[in-house]
Amino acid sequence: MKKFTNVLLRCIPIIFLITNVSYSWGSTGHKLINRKSVMHLPNSMATLKADSIYYESHASDADYRKNYNDTSFFAEAQRHYFDIDIYPNFHSLPRNLDSVIALYGRGNVRQNGTLPWAIQLTFDSLTAQFVRGDFVTAKATMSDLGHYVADAHQPLHCTENYDGKLTGNDGIHSRYESTMINTFKSSIIISQDSIQYIDSPLDYSFEYILHSNSLVDSVLAADTYAKSVSGWNGSGTPPSTYYNALWQKTKYFTSAQFQSATVALASLWYTAWLNAQDILTIDENISLFPSSITLEQNYPNPFNPKTEIKFQISHFSGVTLKVFDISGREIETLIYSAMYPGHYSVEWTPKDLGSGTYFYRLQVGGSSETRRMILVK
Ligand SMILES: [Zn+2]
Repeated sequence: MKKFTNVLLRCIPIIFLITNVSYSWGSTGHKLINRKSVMHLPNSMATLKADSIYYESHASDADYRKNYNDTSFFAEAQRHYFDIDIYPNFHSLPRNLDSVIALYGRGNVRQNGTLPWAIQLTFDSLTAQFVRGDFVTAKATMSDLGHYVADAHQPLHCTENYDGKLTGNDGIHSRYESTMINTFKSSIIISQDSIQYIDSPLDYSFEYILHSNSLVDSVLAADTYAKSVSGWNGSGTPPSTYYNALWQKTKYFTSAQFQSATVALASLWYTAWLNAQDILTIDENISLFPSSITLEQNYPNPFNPKTEIKFQISHFSGVTLKVFDISGREIETLIYSAMYPGHYSVEWTPKDLGSGTYFYRLQVGGSSETRRMILVK
């Protein structure tokens, strides 16, 4: 612990520098990741898929919000990096923020960057906005989440040696993420890939941050190599031969990082969206949005003890699905939520109800449909 404190003290001047420079994949890289990620989304998220231009144009909003006078723990400036390798035995660093703070102190943890926890916070906000049906805010949050996930895939955002100063590779950060990416962006091809439901967004973020960190030495070695083949001594503007060599040495893993960032981002978007609707089963096999509101006959019917009710909605709207008895008395509310257009199903197991006829009514905005079902005991 003592030793670690010394390490931290030694690094404070270095960490101070990062707060004065606006770093992150360059705007080209961020735009590319935010725009391309939608291609991995399922068709049930078509409404969100259609907004790729929005996510692209807001890909760097988070960078513009940095305010270096903000001293709060989750200040914007510290959200964009995670110097994970400054921690001793960092592969076994606890993921839980309270545990890390208990071990190393709040001030140090903040200085070393809060990126994985910022991703978790942003993911939680997105989920809550989906639940509220607040698309306007959710789209901005999706853009920010893209920014942070992209930062976490930039190896130099995941290391204490973020600008090569500890190894004589000074200035590599912007050469690698900005000038090189701007020069070779057309060579970065993102292809459609399968996404996954993420059980723990925080653990997931640690996984890709550790992977990014594992590439740091390769970026630094590529810089040293590119300097030697181009004859560039580190002062003034590097020649194109330097960038050609830097790209040759890094292109495979850099392109893979872009691909992985888009898959991670789409997976997190998808997970937030599913979590917001966790009482519902979404049928991903149906690729087109329904053109109207449809309430299907429950199945099985008559039923005991449970039945399934399927319905479709054609536009984003406030939705209620309620059950009534034969006298019109409300028995249970199965859904009360803002919902996307799509095909849904709800399972219902009545509690303490006798045999008889019941009605279920779907209300979508101003229109409604009602059907009858029979419980047989
Ligand atoms: Zn950033």
